[in-house]
Amino acid sequence: MASARKTTKVIIVGGGGTLGSSTALHLIRRGYTPSNITILDTYPIPSSQSAGHDLNKIMSIRLRTKADLQLSLEALDMWKHDPLFKPFFHNVGMFDCSSEAENITELREYYQALIDVNAGLDKTNFWLDSEDEILSKLSCFTKEQVKGWKGLFTLDGGWLAASKAINAIGLFAKSQGVQFEFGEAGTFKRPLFADDEVTCHGVETINGSKYFADKVIMAAGAWTPTLIDLEGQCVSKAWVLAHIQLTPEEAAAYKNIPVVYDGSYGFFFEPNEDGIIKVCDEFPGFTRFKTHQPYGAGEPKCISVPRSHASHPTDTYPDASEVSIRKAVARFLPGLKDRPFVNRAMCWCTDTADSNLLICEHPKWKNLILATGDSGHSFKMLPNIGKHIVELMEGTLQQDLLNYWKWRPGGDALKSTRAAPAEDLADMPGWKHDARL
Ligand code: FAD
Repeated sequence: MASARKTTKVIIVGGGGTLGSSTALHLIRRGYTPSNITILDTYPIPSSQSAGHDLNKIMSIRLRTKADLQLSLEALDMWKHDPLFKPFFHNVGMFDCSSEAENITELREYYQALIDVNAGLDKTNFWLDSEDEILSKLSCFTKEQVKGWKGLFTLDGGWLAASKAINAIGLFAKSQGVQFEFGEAGTFKRPLFADDEVTCHGVETINGSKYFADKVIMAAGAWTPTLIDLEGQCVSKAWVLAHIQLTPEEAAAYKNIPVVYDGSYGFFFEPNEDGIIKVCDEFPGFTRFKTHQPYGAGEPKCISVPRSHASHPTDTYPDASEVSIRKAVARFLPGLKDRPFVNRAMCWCTDTADSNLLICEHPKWKNLILATGDSGHSFKMLPNIGKHIVELMEGTLQQDLLNYWKWRPGGDALKSTRAAPAEDLADMPGWKHDARL
């Protein structure tokens, strides 16, 4: 295996994003020759259209499946201890809360489940049942504001300086001699096949360049279903965010505040070093269905096609999102409820029907490996997901992860495991500010 690692050539399509950059890192750490690794992406790493190109993302433990628990505990350990990732983890904690009876019951059950897994989480997770208990962790709130709130406070969470962490991987990869191609020379057009027509041995990009390799990893995030026919397994959706600029005095009042999340409203983060607070609402996402023919489809299909802020910088978000984000600001930050937003944007992820990743070799095409289906919760796995993608590539991935992540057409990726199916951007005015396609 060690000698194969030295000579195996790998192309990572979407290597400027989250899963792709993590894969490059773990190839290097496992002894692959860096100059045999080629990162292709439309934008330079950290790609400005990656879902991970953001001020911050939430780190928290996910319990939904055994795989989620394993991956989030592994990730937590690396965010805390791995020298490459440690500088980007702001371990301020997270408060997952509600004032609605049904949601409080669910949160309480979730808290109990965390304690019951016997992973030592009883020492880092606490149920906050009264206003005074809440104020002891979130001193910037008032007693009046948190009246009736209850929830789970975890020390295993906080926020990740997302774009900076991907950038750190990019700098490391460059320093080791990884090959990069961006722009038209890095933008995937189609896979290339050997004479048997089933063994993938490279990629052609939209400027006609051809790159050859032993393995091709497709980690193009929300764009993957538009590039390769995934037979409806992934539906790409946009979520929204807004930024508020604080004065240094205002920012000081929120220093070290935990991430605050309420599923009926959304969430917000501690201001970053420039005094910017990010606020998101919570909803089932927006699609953008078009007629489009990905590689491998016999005919054009109705597919949700992302349109990124990077390629359309004047796009914002639907008028409806302005209303729901304002509602979240009024709930969490009432003193700032009339403050203008300095940035309003959409960012794209791709959902599977069961919210598990899609990480597998293509069933028809040997050596073409899919690494996608992030389902809107995969940034936290930046430190460790690439390790498992490399294991899949080498045929050593553990059996339960193989099962969770296998090729599995069927199911409803439009709704996924969310409360409702996504609405389409065609029906949502207010976001589109240039006429280009
Ligand atoms: P990406 O990171 O988007 O990477 C895809 C890459 O493919 C990009 O670099 C892109 O440029 C490239 N690409 C596209 N087309 C081509 C092409 N034709 N050729 C070459 N390259 C191409 N996760 C969390 O864990 N915690 C959170 O708090 C959280 N919050 C979120 C909030 C919002 C608003 C959004 C939108 C997402 C959030 N997520 C969160 C989800 C997380 O960001 C994603 O799950 C994760 O970043 C997806 O990674 P990816 O590698 O699949 O895709």
